Amino acid sequence: MKLHTIDTGLFKLDGGAMFGVVPKSIWQKSNPADSNNMCTWAMRCLLIEDGGRLILVDNGIGNKQDEKFLGHYFLHGDDTLDKSLAAKGFSRADITDVFLTHLHFDHCGGSIERNGDQLRPAFKNAIYWTNQQHWDWAIHPNAREKASFLKENILPIQESGQLRFIPSQDGVLFHEGIKIRFAYGHTDAMMLPQLSYKDKTIVYMADLLPSVGHIPLPYVMAYDMFPLQTLKEKKEFLEEAATNEYILYLEHDPINECCTLQQTEKGIRLKDTFKLVEIL
Ligand SMILES: [Zn+2]
Repeated sequence: MKLHTIDTGLFKLDGGAMFGVVPKSIWQKSNPADSNNMCTWAMRCLLIEDGGRLILVDNGIGNKQDEKFLGHYFLHGDDTLDKSLAAKGFSRADITDVFLTHLHFDHCGGSIERNGDQLRPAFKNAIYWTNQQHWDWAIHPNAREKASFLKENILPIQESGQLRFIPSQDGVLFHEGIKIRFAYGHTDAMMLPQLSYKDKTIVYMADLLPSVGHIPLPYVMAYDMFPLQTLKEKKEFLEEAATNEYILYLEHDPINECCTLQQTEKGIRLKDTFKLVEIL
């Protein structure tokens, strides 16, 4: 198995929304906000090369939205999905599997491209993976989450015939060495790939733990649909991860790609941060 970091660019989200009930006087020390209270976040995807499959986990915000929409998110940085794939010697046509942790626009926006008036899959040779429970949740969105589930990112996947569902069963095997964990607090049935890589366990954290700044338990995003469920899932996961020395791969942390955890008298805290290439 070969692993590659695929950075798709940086964007901004409201710092208050990202840290929930934690006051700005505390979170701004580690996450400085701009004059609009916005903080910078990464959209860091993961490419897994193994046994003839080329699996891309999430694909960023994409490039088909209009300027008004993108104006809310302040895309910046030099990285794009295509540039990052090219730097590893690949193009979108090489991807065999697009694995979508969930269908919020900052995770699946690159799935679909615009071709004139038409919307079509941006990965023409890939199967797109989600699960039935999350799909149903996303195509009938509640009013609070509706702005995150954009029809144009979602419906064309089904229309293309490239959509497949993973059984919603915790620990289900997706590919040799890749099991899927489910979490239900951020949105319904989000999926986190857990990789056995050499003698290590690497977990793609998606929105269960967006950044190292979210490690202390009360740091739960206001975006989460069921914050107390997140709290429970996060507590159980962080304990398991600290005990077993898991490597956490962070999708939204603007600085740190990976981290490990340790038990302290205050609870679970950060141990080390490093880049994925340092462990390959
Ligand atoms: Zn996200």
